[in-house]
Amino acid sequence: MSDYIVRATALDGKLRAFACITTELVRELSNRHGCLALASAALGRTATMGAMMGVMLKGNETVTLQVRGDGPLGKIIVTADADAKVRGYIENPLVELPPKEGGAYADVEKLDVGAGVGDGYLFVIKDLGMKEPYTGSVPLHNGEIAEDFVYYFAQSEQTPSALSLGVLVDKDQTVKAAGGFLIQLLPGVSDEDIDYLEQQLSSFPHITSLLVQGTTPEDILKRLLPGEINFLETYPVTFTCDCTRDRFARGLLSLGAAEIRSILEEDKGAELVCHFCNEKYNFGEAELEELLRMAENR
Ligand SMILES: [Zn+2]
Repeated sequence: MSDYIVRATALDGKLRAFACITTELVRELSNRHGCLALASAALGRTATMGAMMGVMLKGNETVTLQVRGDGPLGKIIVTADADAKVRGYIENPLVELPPKEGGAYADVEKLDVGAGVGDGYLFVIKDLGMKEPYTGSVPLHNGEIAEDFVYYFAQSEQTPSALSLGVLVDKDQTVKAAGGFLIQLLPGVSDEDIDYLEQQLSSFPHITSLLVQGTTPEDILKRLLPGEINFLETYPVTFTCDCTRDRFARGLLSLGAAEIRSILEEDKGAELVCHFCNEKYNFGEAELEELLRMAENR
C-alpha cells in the first residue's frame, strides 16, 4: 500500500477526521538521516503529523513543526505543504535508550520517545502567504509527540482532538509500518457521540498493528467513528525536499567576498549538505571564483 491520507467528516460535519499510512515516507526519512529506531519513531511521528496538518492548508501554504526538547534526540523539524509533500530533520539520529516497560502497546512499540525528546516546547509555524507567519507554541506534554499535539490543538486552536501517531521499527532497524489518525470535534457534538468515540478509542488497537495487517486508513476511520462517514478526498503522501544547487549558491554568495575568499584559500572548495534530505552540493574552485567575482561586484 503506498502512502496516502484520507480526509473525512461525520456527524453532519461536526466531526472531521484524517487517517494516513506513511510507511514509505518514514522509511525514506529514516534512511536519508541514518536513523536508529528511536529517532525513526520520533521523526516519523512528527512527519506523520506534518502530513495531516499539511492537507489542512490551501494552495502554497506550508506548515513547519518544531519539537524542541532537552532530551538526547535534540530538535526535530518537519515541513509540509498542502499536497502532503513532507521533509524532516532530527538533530541526533543515533541516540539509543532502554525500552519502556509495560504500557498499553508494549507488544508493538516500546521505544521511549518521551525520554528521547525530553522537556521543552512545540512550535507550529504556518506560512499562510501573509507578511508574517502564524506561530503557535505550547510546552511539550510528555514528548511522545501525539499527546504534545493534542495539547497544542486544545490550547492554541481550541479544538478537542484524538490523535494517534505510530512508527513500528523492526529489530534490524528498518521501518515496518507508520501512520496515524486525527479526529477533531467541532462545536455541537452530543455527549452521546463523545462517549461512543471515547469508548472506541479506549479499546482501539495500536495503529501500526492494524497497518501491518493491511488495514486501510478508510477502515480505521470506519472502525472508530460514530454514524455515517463522508469520505471527502485522498492525497498521496511523499517525501520531497525543495533544496536546489542554486539556493546553496545564493547562500554562499550571501556570506560575502571576504568569507568566500577564505574558503577558496583554505579549502579550495566547499561541500554543503541539506539538513532535510542529506543531499550534498559540491562547489569547486572555479565555481567559488565565479561566486567571489559576483560577491565583489555587488
Ligand atoms: Zn534538501
